[in-house]
Amino acid sequence: MREKLKDAKRIVIKIGTSSLLYPNGNINLAGIDELAFVLTDLRNRGKEVLLVSSGAIGIGMNKLGYRNRPASIPEQQAISAVGQAQMMAIYNQRFATYSQQTAQVLLTRDVTDFPESRTNVMNTLEQLLRMNIIPIINENDTVAVDELDHFTKFGDNDQLSAIVLQLTNADLLVMLSDINGFYSDNPSTNKNARLYSRVTELTDDLFSRAGGKGSQFGTGGMYSKLKAAQRVLDHNSGMVLANGKRPKVILDILDGKDIGTFFKGE
Ligand code: ADP
Repeated sequence: MREKLKDAKRIVIKIGTSSLLYPNGNINLAGIDELAFVLTDLRNRGKEVLLVSSGAIGIGMNKLGYRNRPASIPEQQAISAVGQAQMMAIYNQRFATYSQQTAQVLLTRDVTDFPESRTNVMNTLEQLLRMNIIPIINENDTVAVDELDHFTKFGDNDQLSAIVLQLTNADLLVMLSDINGFYSDNPSTNKNARLYSRVTELTDDLFSRAGGKGSQFGTGGMYSKLKAAQRVLDHNSGMVLANGKRPKVILDILDGKDIGTFFKGE
């Protein structure tokens, strides 16, 4: 069944902050460079690649010398504004090594909900892919708010990456996390937890096995990854959840190797 992953033509990759920064808060240049190498290699094979990248706040904190994440929203948004620019500077530099052009796309939920702006986003992404450019997509933190009558947040980048898959009608979402996949229980608290290799349907029982986030950089935890997987299954596409420690794992995944958890309907 996983053999078919070789044929995936349009692929969304989601990378979490924990794969871009070391636990001490410094930038993981080796990891980012390997990611740029692998994604460019996929492009060279003729695949269409979109990257959804978290990391703006973590990279901004590193740039500005913050040790702890401030509680106030304006401060977080300011750090994110610095970090987003810095993150793109690092990506541009690493991708330039492999002569791969990238583009920054910042989205909010209202943009993808409102039909005209949604079409505009879809057209822009299609055009970028036609031009062999890798779009690097993130939530537009500086304008996104979550208020009673005005929801513009995606919630987290797990949801954003699944929405990008829907918008672009992609074949596969590769979600890189700080864990090897989805387990029968949180492996950090239960040593007997078993890794699921294949999930064809997301039942209430499976959702009840997903706990919260794993690191200070984590976002929604496993529950939000399963919600994203649900979107992907609803769209009749596939998702692989795997460890982002070594981005070269993406090449093995596309070779059909039994890595991480593969979510795909029967
Ligand atoms: P990311 O950095 O990818 O956003 P998160 O911290 O949001 O990662 O989510 C991954 C974490 O979810 C894991 O490190 C783990 O601690 C936790 N987790 C909770 N329940 C499970 C489960 N059933 N299987 C795997 N991981 C789980």
